[in-house]
Amino acid sequence: MSATRVLVLNSGSSSVKYQLLDMSDSSRLAVGLVERIGEETSRLKHTPLTGGGGEREREEPIADHEAALKAVAAELAADGLGLDSPELAAIGHRVVHGGLKFTAPTVITDDVLAEIERLVPVAPLHNPANITGIRTAQALRPDLPQVAVFDTAFHTTMPEAAARYAIDVATADEHRVRRYGFHGTSHAYVSRETAKLLGKAPADVNVIVLHLGNGASASAVRGGRCVETSMGLTPLEGLVMGTRSGDVDPAVVFHLARVGGMSIDEVDTLLNKKSGLVGLCGDNDMREIRRRVDEGDEAASLAFDIYIHRLKKYIGAYYAVLGRVDAIAFTAGVGENAAPVREAAVAGLEELGLAVDGELNAVRSDEARLISPEYARVAVAVVPTDEELEIAQQTYALVGNPS
Ligand code: ADP
Repeated sequence: MSATRVLVLNSGSSSVKYQLLDMSDSSRLAVGLVERIGEETSRLKHTPLTGGGGEREREEPIADHEAALKAVAAELAADGLGLDSPELAAIGHRVVHGGLKFTAPTVITDDVLAEIERLVPVAPLHNPANITGIRTAQALRPDLPQVAVFDTAFHTTMPEAAARYAIDVATADEHRVRRYGFHGTSHAYVSRETAKLLGKAPADVNVIVLHLGNGASASAVRGGRCVETSMGLTPLEGLVMGTRSGDVDPAVVFHLARVGGMSIDEVDTLLNKKSGLVGLCGDNDMREIRRRVDEGDEAASLAFDIYIHRLKKYIGAYYAVLGRVDAIAFTAGVGENAAPVREAAVAGLEELGLAVDGELNAVRSDEARLISPEYARVAVAVVPTDEELEIAQQTYALVGNPS
């Protein structure tokens, strides 16, 4: 029997998201999530996608990642999909920060793990949880190949002109301060799927990808290679997000510290957790914001306008970076679902060859689709992202057993 299954793990500081896929046909066998790890009210949601069983939910204290993964393994085993199965080929881990060294998915060895640890100072919120997830999975199946798929890898093709901040080079290099970019797995997948939708090879198209979820980032992809992206040293830079400010004058930090008397940690929390849409209007869910806009709520309207203004600025900037644009692709929770955001983001850009067809834009679908009118020079597309499938594909391509 050939091993064709891949378990994809996305380990956060207090959560683990997982999917088990069968790469013989890229189908999903089970999906789930453990939340609030370390609290009294931890919750495991598990959905088998083979057979007849529906979603199962358990709320019980789950002390740490090891306990979480063991609970996941037990759920999978109950569906006949246990981690001890000879059909499991590998475990693919989402790793947020791969620095400059990891430009592609990598089989995890002791040296690789040590390098991911060396990157903790530049990704203190993310890499420690990813490392814990890897260690736990290794303990559970020491014999199984484990692969790290990095959020930053797709962006390592950015030219120095885009990747460097204009600050003292020696200081920047000493502290590895540069623009790394994130959401790379999604930008890679969506830019390729957009080319497919246009019936072209990725090498032949230039695409602006707008990944608009709770976190949000834009990228400019020329011929399949990323040449610019909006997130930087950390995922704080760029677009307005659910709770993150995106771009601000760095002097805002000095001002809040000197004049506002805030500590660096307080400013960090302000910009990462209490800003963006939530800071502007108290809500970070675009559905709720649109509902409030439709009711004439001023704070929600201003928040929406600021969100769209920034997005439009990035579309224009990336148009200039690419010179020629074949398509703009909207993806992730907001990009895939919020028609008013797509409409407003390209409104008034007809001179750039950009337009959205109202009827096509209103269609709800899980499929990749065009929403621009026939006459438009640039295709505008909605392309659902699938980071788990991309991680599974990259993992399987590296270690899969094709026999
Ligand atoms: P992340 O993976 O960054 O947590 P997602 O890509 O799942 O986020 O996007 C979540 C966001 O998508 C929600 O906060 C909400 O703003 C938005 N969203 C989801 N569904 C809809 C919808 N039907 N209409 C508008 N916005 C939506």
